[in-house]
Amino acid sequence: VNLLRDAGPKAILIERSAHIARGVAYSAPDPALLLNVRAANMSALPDRPDHFIDWLAQRGVASDGFAPRALYGEYLTELLEDSRQTDPSRLEIVSGDAIAAEVGDAVRVRLASGEVVTGDTLVLASGNLPPVAPPNLNPDGLAPGRYVADPWHGDLAGGLGADDTVLILGTGLTMIDAALLLDRRGFRGRIVALSRRGLLPHRHAPLPAPPGLAERPPVEVTRLLRTVRKRAAAIGWRSAVDELRPWTRSLWLAGTVPQRARFLRHLRPWWDIHRHRIAPRVAEQIDSLRAEGRLRIVAGRLLGATDRVLTWCPRGADHVEEMLVDRIVNCTGPQVDLDSCTEPLLRSLRDAGHITPDPLRLGVATDPVARAIDVSGRPGERLFALGPLTKGTFWEMTAVPDIREQAWTLARRLSHAQWVGGEGL
Ligand SMILES: Cc1cc2nc3c(=O)[nH]c(=O)nc-3n(C[C@H](O)[C@H](O)[C@H](O)COP(=O)(O)OP(=O)(O)OC[C@H]3O[C@@H](n4cnc5c(N)ncnc54)[C@H](O)[C@@H]3O)c2cc1C
Repeated sequence: VNLLRDAGPKAILIERSAHIARGVAYSAPDPALLLNVRAANMSALPDRPDHFIDWLAQRGVASDGFAPRALYGEYLTELLEDSRQTDPSRLEIVSGDAIAAEVGDAVRVRLASGEVVTGDTLVLASGNLPPVAPPNLNPDGLAPGRYVADPWHGDLAGGLGADDTVLILGTGLTMIDAALLLDRRGFRGRIVALSRRGLLPHRHAPLPAPPGLAERPPVEVTRLLRTVRKRAAAIGWRSAVDELRPWTRSLWLAGTVPQRARFLRHLRPWWDIHRHRIAPRVAEQIDSLRAEGRLRIVAGRLLGATDRVLTWCPRGADHVEEMLVDRIVNCTGPQVDLDSCTEPLLRSLRDAGHITPDPLRLGVATDPVARAIDVSGRPGERLFALGPLTKGTFWEMTAVPDIREQAWTLARRLSHAQWVGGEGL
């Protein structure tokens, strides 16, 4: 969309799913799945902050809260289609699965159908890497239907009755979705959600977030924590976390690798539940499931599973417990280690040395303008990465408010529009 807006180079969009422009997040049709970010902050265009709420208003939908994710998917699809209509010759949409790419004087992308698509530049915007089974769990050793590897594509509730137990691995945002979907699909048995600490995402406050901090807080982890705690005592923890938003990327970029590693080791679980919150309505549904005894959150470590028997060690305990479960759903989140990734396209680029993992193994290494770093340690001009793949460089590159800006900036670079706008001078 931004390439079209900036009169940039012609683009070819390769998509393997039938849901163009929706990705995993906005393909689910269930209206119970709401955005985790207020509609007012979900414009796809950073230079038009009211774009999504205006779109909602045109459809008579209230825009002050958390819209259904399916509706957001409609918005994205329509935005892409409307933009394409402005000059259909400048955006081609190719339906296919990209399985390999060569990067040389040009870029050649091979599709599973055998077709080859060529261009001058390749932008990897393939989203999160698919989840993998946690260590200690061998899905091949479980009976068919016992394990759901991917909650977005597996059968969560099929064949289960009211006496059955579903174990969800992970207690983050994906677990919230899986618990709601189990309920919506008529599952009336018990749900147990297990994670190391048993921490749940917090709920959003009824009021919108405050403006961002005017100055960047300290980069050093202990000093940063002290500053945030002080602000939390003054303005509440939600506001203290939210006002960091304009600075999170620059804090991460300014940190050394050991500082970033310290943050990941000690603060990440806390950051995740305070930063990535859920809509108040969703939080109420989760509260009711817990109050009815249908959802239990437990903290501990999975040790293994054989058929129906799951063994685990409760947090802080030194004994092993067993649990009888009828289905295990993996909600541990996307896989991030490029070297264990089985996606053929990324494998081919990794094997040829065009992409490399970032030092903390959060995705693909890039420089600050999203150029992929190759095996020689240098960025090239033909290969870029966008979105969650670039978390190692930018950290907060998960939600729309961050990704839209990254995509906008890259489109302007590829269109040489940053020189016209002046921000490159
Ligand atoms: C369940 C869920 C809910 C979320 N809710 C919110 C929210 O409320 N608010 C918010 O701001 N953020 C939310 N996010 C985060 C965020 O919006 C997503 O991370 C974001 O959509 C990522 O965008 P993307 O374009 O990088 O990747 P995706 O949206 O995942 O799109 C990648 C696309 O690439 C295609 N693809 C991948 N590999 C290939 C290949 N080899 N060949 C062809 N096609 C390929 C995929 O089919 C997919 O359509 C949510 C994320 C998830 C998973």
